[in-house]
Amino acid sequence: MAQRSITIVGAGQSGLQLGVGLLEAGYQVRIVSNRTGEEIAAGRVSSSQCMFGQALAHESDLGLDLWQDAPAVDGIGFTVAPSEAPGVKAIDWAHRLDRPAQSIDQRVKFPAFMEAFVQRGGELVFEDAGVDELERYAAESDLVLVAAGKGEIARLFERDAERSHYDAPQRALALTYVHGMRPRDEYSAVAFNLIPGVGEYFTFPALTLSGPCDIMVFEGLPGGPMDAWAGLSPEQHLGRSLEILRTYLPWEAERCSDVSLTDELGVLQGRFAPTVRRPVVTLPSGRTVLGMADVVVLNDPITGQGSNNAAKCAASYLESIVAHGDLPFTRDFQQATFERYWGYAQFVAGWTNALLAPPPEHVLNLLGAAGSSPAIAKRFVNGFDFPPDFFEWFMDPDSAARYLDSLASAAQPSA
Ligand SMILES: Cc1cc2nc3c(=O)[nH]c(=O)nc-3n(C[C@H](O)[C@H](O)[C@H](O)COP(=O)(O)OP(=O)(O)OC[C@H]3O[C@@H](n4cnc5c(N)ncnc54)[C@H](O)[C@@H]3O)c2cc1C
Repeated sequence: MAQRSITIVGAGQSGLQLGVGLLEAGYQVRIVSNRTGEEIAAGRVSSSQCMFGQALAHESDLGLDLWQDAPAVDGIGFTVAPSEAPGVKAIDWAHRLDRPAQSIDQRVKFPAFMEAFVQRGGELVFEDAGVDELERYAAESDLVLVAAGKGEIARLFERDAERSHYDAPQRALALTYVHGMRPRDEYSAVAFNLIPGVGEYFTFPALTLSGPCDIMVFEGLPGGPMDAWAGLSPEQHLGRSLEILRTYLPWEAERCSDVSLTDELGVLQGRFAPTVRRPVVTLPSGRTVLGMADVVVLNDPITGQGSNNAAKCAASYLESIVAHGDLPFTRDFQQATFERYWGYAQFVAGWTNALLAPPPEHVLNLLGAAGSSPAIAKRFVNGFDFPPDFFEWFMDPDSAARYLDSLASAAQPSA
C-alpha cells in the first residue's frame, strides 16, 4: 500500500499526539502550527492541563511521557464553602486517585512534543491556516484534520444546537501560576472548593518553565464576585486571587502566605461558551476536512477534561484511521470517526455541563455522604479519569438511590 499522507492543523495536545501516533503507524504526516515552539514557550499560559491516568497512558504508549519526575497529583479533595459563613466547611473530604494525575504547562509540553514529532520524521510547517490553506492541504493530502483548539478557524465548524447545552459562557475563568504554595498535608491533590452562588476554585501542583509550581484555577459565576479579572496587571491579578481566597476560602489563603507569580505571563483570564460542533466542513472545492478535540467538543474547564478529551480523541481517531486501511477517507468515514469519539465525549460533556448548574439535592447528598464513605469518595475522584461512570450512579436521583442502597446492603452484617 502506498504511504498515505495526512495533514493536521494545530500543534497542541490532540494534533501533536495524533501526529506522533500516525508516524509510528507508518503515515506521512504534516502538522501546521501558527506558532513556533519558541513562541509557545515565550507566550502566555493557556490551560491548567491536569491529565488523569487514561489520558497519560495514551501519551506513554507513544513514548511521550517525558516528565516522569514532574510533581504528581495523587488525589482529589472536595470542599463546600458556603459564602454566607466564611471559614466554614460544609463538606470536606479527599481521596487518592488509583493512578496519579499530572499537569505539564503547555508552554513546556508542546515545544517538546513538536521536537519529538520532527525527530520521528514528521513535517512541521508554520503558518496560520485559513480556508485557502485548507484547500491546499486537502488537494495534497489523503486526509486533513483540524486540531486548532479555540483558534478562529474552529468557527468554520457549525455549532450543533442539539448537542450544545449552553449558548453563553457559564463561568469567568482565571488562572494564576505560582511558586511557594504550601503543599496539602498528607498527599498532593486537586483541592476543589465549591462556593455555592459564587463559583469554584481548584488548585494542584504542576510543572512550568521555571520548575515545579502550583496552578490556581478560578471559575466565577458571570457577574458575581469571582468575575473580576479584566484589566489587571499580573501583580494585581495575583492580588485579586489572594483576596478571593481570604474572603471565601481562608484555609486555601493560608497555603498562599508566601506565593509569587511564576512569571509575568503565568496569568490568564477569559470565558467561552461550551460548544459541540458538527465535525465535517465542506470547503468551496467540495473537499472535506474533519475537526477534532476542542474544535468539535469544547467543554468548560470546571471538570478539567479538555486535555484529557484531546488525548482520548487523538487515540480514538488514530484507531479509526489505521483500521480504515487504504480505503478513501470519505465524508462518511470522517463523520463516523467523530461519532465513535462522541460515544465517549458525550458523557464528559453531559457531566461537565451538569456541574455548571447548581447541584441538585441528590448530588449534594452523595457528596456529603462521601465524607463518611471512602467507597463513594473513591468512586467520585476516579470518575475524573473516566466520566461515563458518573452516569451509573451520580447523574440522576434514581441511580444515586440505587447506588446508596447497594452500599448500605453491602455494609449489613450477614446473618
Ligand atoms: C482556564 C483553563 C483551564 C484548563 N484546565 C484544564 C485541565 O486542568 N485539564 C484538562 O484536561 N484541560 C484543561 N483545559 C483545556 C485544555 O487545555 C484544552 O482542552 C486542550 O489543550 C485542547 O487540546 P486541542 O488539541 O483541542 O487544542 P490546543 O491544545 O489548544 O492546541 C491547538 C493549537 O492549534 C494552534 N492553532 C490555532 N489556530 C491555528 C491555525 N489557524 N493554524 C495553525 N495552528 C493553529 C494553536 O496555536 C494551538 O497551539 C483548560 C482550559 C482553560 C481555558
